Amino acid sequence: MNALDIQARQTLSDLLTQFGLSPEAGGLPCSNWIDGDLVAGRGEAIALTNPATGGELITYRDAGADLLDQAVEAASRAQVEWMALTASERGRRMNAAIRRLEGHEEALAQLESVVAGKPIRDCRGEVGKVREMFEYYAGWCDKQHGEVIPVPTSHLNYVRHVPFGVVGQITPWNAPMFTCAWQLAPAIAAGNGVVLKPSELTPFSSVVIARLLESGGLPQGLINIVNGLGPTTGAALTGHDGISKLVFVGSPDSGRLIAEAGARRLVPSVLELGGKSANIIFDDARLDDAVAGAQAAVFAAAGQSCVAGSRLLIQRNVFDAVVERVGRAASQITVGLPADEATRMGPLQNVRQFEHVTGMIERARAAGARVVTGGTRPLGLPEGADGYYLAPTVIADVDASMEIACEEVFGPVVVAMPFDDEADAIRLANGTRFGLAGAVWTQDPAKAHRVAGQLRAGTVWINSYKAINVMSPFGGFRDSGFGRSSGLDGLREYTVPQSVWVETGVEASVAMGYGSGHE
Ligand code: NAD
Repeated sequence: MNALDIQARQTLSDLLTQFGLSPEAGGLPCSNWIDGDLVAGRGEAIALTNPATGGELITYRDAGADLLDQAVEAASRAQVEWMALTASERGRRMNAAIRRLEGHEEALAQLESVVAGKPIRDCRGEVGKVREMFEYYAGWCDKQHGEVIPVPTSHLNYVRHVPFGVVGQITPWNAPMFTCAWQLAPAIAAGNGVVLKPSELTPFSSVVIARLLESGGLPQGLINIVNGLGPTTGAALTGHDGISKLVFVGSPDSGRLIAEAGARRLVPSVLELGGKSANIIFDDARLDDAVAGAQAAVFAAAGQSCVAGSRLLIQRNVFDAVVERVGRAASQITVGLPADEATRMGPLQNVRQFEHVTGMIERARAAGARVVTGGTRPLGLPEGADGYYLAPTVIADVDASMEIACEEVFGPVVVAMPFDDEADAIRLANGTRFGLAGAVWTQDPAKAHRVAGQLRAGTVWINSYKAINVMSPFGGFRDSGFGRSSGLDGLREYTVPQSVWVETGVEASVAMGYGSGHE
């Protein structure tokens, strides 16, 4: 074990102790938060690797089916308690809950950084998002009024937005705190109890967040976190009779399994899946901004972002100049240890992802693509940083049918392709089975809106990239999923409209079929 591994294990051990998750004598860490208690898993052992070194980090246990039953039962009981409070009281308690994070932000950021391998700066930003999301949805608690429908009879017909009961949520490893708060906050603001399963690769931060929140006055058991593998704990969650809605953030392949499991039980789902987003640069764009945007679009989070601008479409007459500038900027990004303040890009999170990304680069080379920069391990890493590092990579001479141009890479890799005119740009941008995001860079406002309006993507930026806020709806078309998160649309995913009919006529009458009664 090298010095970096010893240091990372010590940091993690200290943080788990600080948050109360550290193992009892000789045991494995308490990786679940169930009914107001920290509980160790009972299933098979899961070993985590340090993304920066590839060395052993820690082992914990899969939750197992019994713990999942307990979690669903607790959420079901607590949900009734939660809904017995007034709407304003629920909002007050959500606001009080989020204040419990105060003083723990830096430790939470460090915990995420060491396990997920993300730069510490990025993790601090993620903690800030957790707070923002809870504050935003706390404000919705007492504003979820229904509607009165002007029906053509003497009835008063009103619609209430009622919670599902207990919802099941499953999140990925690339932004564990963000996705946890992103789904927890609207779910409980809408009046549900929750059982959430984080990725098996990043189990701890969601447990810590749930524990801190609940200590702020949420009913015991309202939020439960179960950790384990997809095919075990994940599948048990999606198949559990006590779950009335599934919300999934992850890959299209797993998303299909989740939607299938829901369909078998006639349980609806929201799927937030992957992407292959087009970042379109016209020749009349402010190229300095466009180059900076292109770089941030795909190299932030080492490209492990669902909205990564992984297809750079550049108008042909500026293609060579833009590719050269993006390549130069990419080669100047500081790649380093997650804990270093100077690091702008860390390693990929796990060996499977590393092999997936490097395999795609190799196949692209073999198919005739040109690696402009990157494609290998970065130079100048500290001794012992033998983990899943890949230099920011720009690839050109790519045919739109190549795997690297069609499939999600989910790594620091962008393919650059030229286009001739507006129609060509739109055709290329929409030539994908995904539809999560996209961007247009031009100084012509009419063209910007015209092109944006024709992109089949859930989010479109004009002269910008990656501006995302909890107030604005987010989600995909096609293989990027369905349903929406964030904003009022995200809140509505967690409620069902209930239509209530009240007879207000002088004489009560009951309709017998469509042709009688008060219609
Ligand atoms: P993944 O699909 O492998 O895993 C996601 C989650 O699903 C994990 O918690 C995993 O344990 C669970 N899971 C896997 N199989 C399951 C099963 N059979 N039953 C129940 N649960 C199961 O995805 P990942 O590799 O963790 O994350 C990367 C993917 O997530 C990328 O495709 C990325 O684009 C996507 N993503 C999308 C968004 C979005 O908002 N659209 C956000 C972040 C990540």
